Amino acid sequence: MAHRITLVPGDGIGPEVAEAARLVIAAAGVHVDWDVQEAGQAVMDREGTPLPDRVLDAIRGSRTALKGPITTPVGTGFRSVNVALRRELDLFASIRPSRHLPGVPTRHPGVDLVVIRENTEDLYQGVEFERGSRDVRRLAEDLDELAGYRLRDDAGVTVKPISVSGTRRIVRFALEFARQHGRRKVTVGHKANIMRFSDGLFLSTALEIDRTDYPDIELDAMEIDELAMWLAWEPSVMDVLLLPNLYGDIVSDLCAGLVGGLGLAPGANLGWEYAVFEPVHGSAPDIAGRGVANPIAIILTSALMLRHLSEDDAAARMERAVAEVLEEGRVRTPDMGGTSTTEEVAGAIAARLG
Ligand code: NAD
Repeated sequence: MAHRITLVPGDGIGPEVAEAARLVIAAAGVHVDWDVQEAGQAVMDREGTPLPDRVLDAIRGSRTALKGPITTPVGTGFRSVNVALRRELDLFASIRPSRHLPGVPTRHPGVDLVVIRENTEDLYQGVEFERGSRDVRRLAEDLDELAGYRLRDDAGVTVKPISVSGTRRIVRFALEFARQHGRRKVTVGHKANIMRFSDGLFLSTALEIDRTDYPDIELDAMEIDELAMWLAWEPSVMDVLLLPNLYGDIVSDLCAGLVGGLGLAPGANLGWEYAVFEPVHGSAPDIAGRGVANPIAIILTSALMLRHLSEDDAAARMERAVAEVLEEGRVRTPDMGGTSTTEEVAGAIAARLG
């Protein structure tokens, strides 16, 4: 039976790599009934919103989506479609594995870690007060009264909420993930000494969680700056990293860089009900439309999606095909020092699955 999956190709390099993913999934013998849904700038121009309800309804119907990147205008225009999608579907956990693959040049050959990022809280809520606005002046009065804090007249403010309930579910999720994937240690990243009531709450909630069901999994904590040092120095000692939203966003790109770059980094956004699989990379406007984007990130993302759909065998064969093509080193996109196109890389991977 065919799996019904919503495909949001996205923009920039999104449509190019999404096509590559479809080709490889078909070559792996998995039948998919794709429901293609557009979102982003072009849709904004046509429909007045970058994320129409039809996209959300389609994902609610299929429960699973594969998504390419969507450009977020900087400073002006609409807010991030990606953030809105995660919030609307309550995709509270972002999973981003970083594993060194054979044949990929790296300074750190032993890396095999997973970043689990809390996806719904922290500074990404869009609770913001614009410099010079009436609201920021009201906020300034309240801050002065409540905290004796004098906000500068030329300041803008972004609010950072972190809750016990939001943290508990991501900590439980991380422990369960570690158990299911045979991992031994979850390291919580934080800056609790400076942000006591947000990061501090994240840390204390994590440390207080009942772990009787997870006796084999160690849970420790590290300040985010020290964690950054370890990731640059000796990342192979890291296992599962559990991070609030902003640190998770930054550190997962950093970890992608440790194992060969954004062109290879897969990701998933999961909630209790829905799952949206998307590579870590963005829309890469610098190379969009040239047919040279690396499709491996979205192909490995598709393998994560197939596992979620209990297509473990096809997922394993796809990962093996990617590893073989990388190890052979003949067909590579320019980000990996090669001259091949997106289509050629996808074709080489698909050919090993036939
Ligand atoms: P980016 O990931 O698009 O690009 C960063 C660098 O990595 C660029 O040099 C790009 O060419 C390269 N790169 C990325 N993916 C690649 C691939 N598959 N193959 C080869 N090279 C690749 O990050 P950015 O430039 O900061 O962001 C561009 C836009 O994408 C922004 O509007 C941003 O908001 C958006 N974005 C969207 C998502 C998402 O949809 N989930 C994620 C990140 C960024």
